[in-house]
Amino acid sequence: MITEVDKTDSHAEPFAVKARYVFPVAGPPLPGGVVTIRGSKIVAVGSQSDNAPVEDLGNVAILPGLINAHTHLEFSRLEAPIGEPGIGFVDWVGKLVELIGHWDHVSGDAVEVGLAESARFGTTTLADIARPGRPSSVYTPIGPDAAVFLELIALSHESVNPILGLARAHLKSAQLAQDWRVGLSPHAPYTVQPELLESVVALSAVASVPLAFHLAESPEELQLLRNGTGPFRDLLVKLAAWDDRRIRSGTRPMDYLRQLSMAHRALIIHGNYLDDEEIAFLGKRSGQMAVVYCPRTHAFFRHAPYPLEKLLAVGARVAVGTDGRASAPDLNLMAELRTVAARHEAVARETVLHMGTIDAARALGMAPEIGTLEAGKAANLTVLALPDREADDPHDLLFDSNKPVVATWRRGRKNDGWA
Ligand SMILES: [Zn+2]
Repeated sequence: MITEVDKTDSHAEPFAVKARYVFPVAGPPLPGGVVTIRGSKIVAVGSQSDNAPVEDLGNVAILPGLINAHTHLEFSRLEAPIGEPGIGFVDWVGKLVELIGHWDHVSGDAVEVGLAESARFGTTTLADIARPGRPSSVYTPIGPDAAVFLELIALSHESVNPILGLARAHLKSAQLAQDWRVGLSPHAPYTVQPELLESVVALSAVASVPLAFHLAESPEELQLLRNGTGPFRDLLVKLAAWDDRRIRSGTRPMDYLRQLSMAHRALIIHGNYLDDEEIAFLGKRSGQMAVVYCPRTHAFFRHAPYPLEKLLAVGARVAVGTDGRASAPDLNLMAELRTVAARHEAVARETVLHMGTIDAARALGMAPEIGTLEAGKAANLTVLALPDREADDPHDLLFDSNKPVVATWRRGRKNDGWA
């Protein structure tokens, strides 16, 4: 997706942008920093630009383009999350299933709306969960670059092979795609037959594609895994979607983590209720496994406190996602990062910024191209307005503020036409 623009890079005239602060993320914040761009790439980051005209953007921060590590863009037409804050997770799933049941097809329109909204909020790359049937042509407009994780749900033994066929077709279609990359998302323990998960993990390893799996999201899920009882089972039985063979009694999230560790790369979506042993397991595999924290969705369901400090203490990779608008108010990744900073005061703000940039890039396997401002990487920049005050730590200017994103550059192309 980058090659086409690359050809023109050597002919393009360089230009540079200056800000009150540049946050390269690869190093400390640069007061009055300058980023020089040529074509689709960054060619220099420093205190000046040698041979390019410099545009001073004023009282703003230039950040690496923000990366939203988990969303479901198909819900982007919802005006508000489903249900009231504090709704039980299983009740919410029931309402979501009912809502989707009323949709006669998977529409690309909502995805386009979500891409435009994400772009406005300064996201330059996102990981989207896509139900089968969505037209992939939707990812070609100007919106953020996308990693498209095909959602795989198999509620019966008979559905496993057809779903695997869809997964293989998705991998194949990605070979022709220019504007999106490929991922697979076996949905969650309660919607995926064990033989599907096993096959998809093998497929991930062979084809070198990342997986995303919702895990340890709610106490009801843990109860279902442990002994096959509770409100989750009741809902699945009611939906004729329960199979006693799907989950062995005494199962824990750890059983899935072990299996997912055999994949090329795995994103553990939510992980709200991981225990210490599971957290330690992830800490040892940070090169290949990451957790995606969705802070405002976490707050919407009023879950128990998120184990962020524990995850970071053992070196686990943590990225941040907005989740979809079925559980989040909007697709504003900066608002998610500010929520992290507000809820986890012991976590350094620098670390929070990393969660929305380089750690998300690493989680997706895209760190060689994006996630920091460094020469040679894609010219993906997010420009955030700053408040009119000083701060000992310039990171505080990003987080103790509600100033908006005012522009982005994505692969060298400016986008600020949304004001
Ligand atoms: Zn999700």
